[in-house]
Amino acid sequence: MKLHATRAEIDAVCARIRDFGYKVHSIEGEERVVIGVVGVGDVTACLESLEAMPQVEKAVRISAPYKFVSREFRQAKTRIQANGIEIGGDEFIIMAGPCSVESEKQILDTAHFVHEHGATFLRGGAFKPRTSPYDFQGLELEGLKLLRKAQQQTGIGIITEVMSDSDVALVAEYADILQIGARNMQNFALLKALGRTSRPVMLKRGLSSTVKELLMSAEYIVAHGNPKVILCERGIRTFETATRNTCDLTAVALLNELTHLPVMLDPSHATGKRSLVPPLARAGVAIGVDGLMVEVHPEPEKAFSDGAQSLTFPQFAGMMHELQPYIQLWSAARIPEAVTV
Ligand code: PEP
Ligand code: MN
Repeated sequence: MKLHATRAEIDAVCARIRDFGYKVHSIEGEERVVIGVVGVGDVTACLESLEAMPQVEKAVRISAPYKFVSREFRQAKTRIQANGIEIGGDEFIIMAGPCSVESEKQILDTAHFVHEHGATFLRGGAFKPRTSPYDFQGLELEGLKLLRKAQQQTGIGIITEVMSDSDVALVAEYADILQIGARNMQNFALLKALGRTSRPVMLKRGLSSTVKELLMSAEYIVAHGNPKVILCERGIRTFETATRNTCDLTAVALLNELTHLPVMLDPSHATGKRSLVPPLARAGVAIGVDGLMVEVHPEPEKAFSDGAQSLTFPQFAGMMHELQPYIQLWSAARIPEAVTV
């Protein structure tokens, strides 16, 4: 639509689309409304008819298989609000915390520490996707309640994983952002359920998933009604075994070309080694991610999961200090274009 199109003009375009037998999917930004025409078959006649309407700025065919999440659909980057913070905007985002919520003291101590050192979101799994059924599976509801307590004490935002479509409503009560783990990136029942919630979602790239598959999964969530999707590169499986995964920074740069969605980097799972987290975090800032997710634990050697890649408190403080000049350059390079969803 043209800038500042009126409600009546928008409705007229939607009615025209429906007359042609297609579905309407509109995304309304502060200034501009973008209307998606969804359906199968040749849309040429519909597009020509829309283009003839005076209130329509232009009608374009999106060639990418992922439609709503592609830059073709919208050039301006998406900004997503969670706990009063904008992801994809002018602020560099830090999500930090333990792999798993283990105890009240562990999560509260971590929440206070990371919050005081610049984190805007506390991470911590209450539902854990573990390779072995004999490993710690998470505190579940008790873990969610501990995260809430951490938020009440500090005001920090909460991001935590949801593993099953039947748990989406429950986790959405406690979390500002729903994390979808690598192992569930293609759990389509879960993706559809996420489309029906209004909570922002952070979708982590699957262990062996291509960039296209990641974007198609994001498309599921948006197509089912929730445009608030954040992507996260967390390393992929390659022939290299010296690190837990291979941190695919190329994918980050590519995602910034292909999609308007915010992109985060998780250097903890991407490397599996705490000494490699700060250098990869720096690289992430330089390549233009919207933020970082890092694992931090008060006593990593005693962690129930992912201790080897978790930073100690002093290491987290050191990394945050060291990142400051890079984040300043990042801020200076930000292009002031965005749409809040
Ligand atoms: C996690 O964030 O602790 C986690 C399980 O990550 P991933 O899904 O990327 O393996
Ligand atoms: Mn972990």
